[in-house]
Amino acid sequence: MSEQYVQVAVPVPMRQLFTYQVPEELQTPSIKIGERVAVSFGSRQVIAIVIAINTDIDAIIDEKRTIASKKIKPISNRLNDSFHLSNSLVSYLKLCANYYHHPIGDVFQQALPKLLRQVKKVDLQPPMVWQSIDIIESEQQAHLTKIETKAPKQFALYQLVSKHQGISWAELRTLGYSKAQLNALTAKGLITETKQKPCQFSWQDKNLAQENKQVLSTEQAIIVAAINQSLEQFSCHLIDGVTGSGKTEVYLQAMENVLANNQQVLVIVPEIGLTPQTLLRFEQRFNVPICLHHSNLNDTERLDTWLNAQQGSAAIVIGTRSAIFSPLHQLGMIIVDEEHDSSLKQQDSFRYHGRDIAILRARQLNIPILLGSATPSFESLQNALSGKYQYHQLRKRAGKSNKAKITLIDVAKQQMEFGLSGSLKHEIKQTLARGEQVLVFLNRRGYAPAITCQECHWLCDCQRCDKPYTFHQKQQLLICHHCGSQKRVPRQCPSCGSVRIAPVGQGTEQLEQRISELFPDVSVVRIDRDSTRKKGELTKLLQEISDKKHQLLIGTQMLAKGHHFPDVTLVAVLDGDGALFSFDFRASEQMAQLMIQVAGRAGRASKPGKVLVQTNYPEHPLLQDLVNNGYQHFAKQALIERKQALLPPFSFQALIRAEANYPSYPEKFLRLLTELDVINCQFAGPVPAAMEKKAGKFRYHLILQAKSRKELHMTILQLLAAIPHNEWQSKVRWSLDIDPIDLNW
Ligand code: ADP
Ligand code: ZN
Ligand code: ZN
Repeated sequence: MSEQYVQVAVPVPMRQLFTYQVPEELQTPSIKIGERVAVSFGSRQVIAIVIAINTDIDAIIDEKRTIASKKIKPISNRLNDSFHLSNSLVSYLKLCANYYHHPIGDVFQQALPKLLRQVKKVDLQPPMVWQSIDIIESEQQAHLTKIETKAPKQFALYQLVSKHQGISWAELRTLGYSKAQLNALTAKGLITETKQKPCQFSWQDKNLAQENKQVLSTEQAIIVAAINQSLEQFSCHLIDGVTGSGKTEVYLQAMENVLANNQQVLVIVPEIGLTPQTLLRFEQRFNVPICLHHSNLNDTERLDTWLNAQQGSAAIVIGTRSAIFSPLHQLGMIIVDEEHDSSLKQQDSFRYHGRDIAILRARQLNIPILLGSATPSFESLQNALSGKYQYHQLRKRAGKSNKAKITLIDVAKQQMEFGLSGSLKHEIKQTLARGEQVLVFLNRRGYAPAITCQECHWLCDCQRCDKPYTFHQKQQLLICHHCGSQKRVPRQCPSCGSVRIAPVGQGTEQLEQRISELFPDVSVVRIDRDSTRKKGELTKLLQEISDKKHQLLIGTQMLAKGHHFPDVTLVAVLDGDGALFSFDFRASEQMAQLMIQVAGRAGRASKPGKVLVQTNYPEHPLLQDLVNNGYQHFAKQALIERKQALLPPFSFQALIRAEANYPSYPEKFLRLLTELDVINCQFAGPVPAAMEKKAGKFRYHLILQAKSRKELHMTILQLLAAIPHNEWQSKVRWSLDIDPIDLNW
């Protein structure tokens, strides 16, 4: 036996691989790239991934010399289970680490389900799945007839299971069904639970439910044809169409050929974009194994999806951003729905953008990728306009429904009551009188954004963040929305002793209370992060809304995502001004997306929606452009401005964030970086972050900007090489964000 070395990715925040020796007794069967091995690192045992074997001997010898005193350690064990990563996935993750300049070990760590990051051996039982039982006994038939009239939800569940044999609990739960309903059907002898048999999925004609298929409009048909032309090669398609214009139908029909080719499809959706309606559309169209990947799954379910993807038993994987790391080995197409949505970007540690690395993967695998949105990100739009992507527009809503019209309400001179102008109140009253629903949008949760002393104007600030506490009335607590710290409401003003302490401003909690007083005859429901904290609560409330149990809906931007409210015919945006004067150049893009998205959630064919936006600046050119000319026009105008100012997508940015216990450290750390001699890259900053202080830490950032990605990349390499010699580096915590989308941190 010869000496054998492997280079592995270890889950530590260091930008390098580590070399270990493979002891003789572990050399057979031969070790492979992508294998999981246990190694000792410091005093811990960790799971590492083999990235290279015996290659680059020179580098290893070099490393050996530099660590001459220490011996190269042996790996402790090989996991020898079926959970190894393919070569293709290993190269992909290396690409991702390079692109984001992120520690490679951490990239691998984040790409793996939690159970695979533990040294403990994984014992995975095949999951239980449901199927229907053939009706042969009269008793079964009697049960079926009875539930059809008496228990419609059970009946719907039965129909779903019989159409979609082998459906998993994760899918059923995501669709809003309960264990109790499953048990009831099982007791009646209508369905049965079995262990899932792992088998390679293969396409048959009966997998496609033809009866649910729509006849495509000409616009849709052209898109599907263009996609079909580009199968088995890299191509990026931007599908730009308002909500309800038939994008999902295009996805479904474009997937047919891929699935029929026995290839897999990956569908990426924003965090709360996976609504029961969306999933149901996939289930009803394709009777193939669909695996889910989202935050409501437990660790075992996540691992199941991983394994099903890897073994090829999953035909379709639908999931949130990290689903992009699924080990699909027959991947034939990627779809990113709501590609503009900021929740596709991970905002801590490994700051990747789900859409961007999906494109990277499609390119690596030479397959088509579809991006869909009613409000495309400026980045994608620019790529489409310049011909880099194929640009497809769906101009009409499918069926007959009309687009909701946006109207501005000038509130500058109006008397306001609880944030509602007289004209808005009147509109709400009329809509409710017609028996239709109203959605009131306010992007500020809690009861009041601050409490203050009415005598001396003292403001109750969080000491750790220097920002006002938000008052939550129900809990009778002050909560800092920046660091989460909590505190009781003081009885007396600590500054002047007065007891006249009162909330100022208004959040969704207060709005709910006030609106209930204004419209006492209707039921009001609030949807925000606070009211939906409990698992399953969001699904429940959304169901109640669709059952028309509530007439007035109050919510934050959570309501603007994914969900469709056919009976809402009036949408009111209480504060349309938030983004108009922000220093973040993306704020207006995000505001426009939000307004159009909220507008798109409302109405249906017979009942078109109406959107009213309250503003103090109705003449503002941005608002005017959006309202009169629509998102596309607005976006094109804004792109011209970005081009003139050389802002992304006409340049490329990276953001270095730094924080420390003293305000001077992060600034000095970043300032030293700007003194480096870089070519073809500009620095902006260092400047204090928008939240200069958070949770006791002082925060600064530095923006890097270059005309090309390559130039940016070179400069970052230069900075990374310099940081270990920066005298302030040990005193600050810093992080690097490539293509940042949020400068407002
Ligand atoms: P989007 O994904 O853009 O919101 P959908 O694909 O969900 O749009 O389509 C909106 C509605 O129109 C759905 O109810 C869908 O079934 C229907 N629909 C889509 N395409 C067609 C078509 N070609 N003919 C008839 N109805 C269609
Ligand atoms: Zn006071
Ligand atoms: Zn705080």
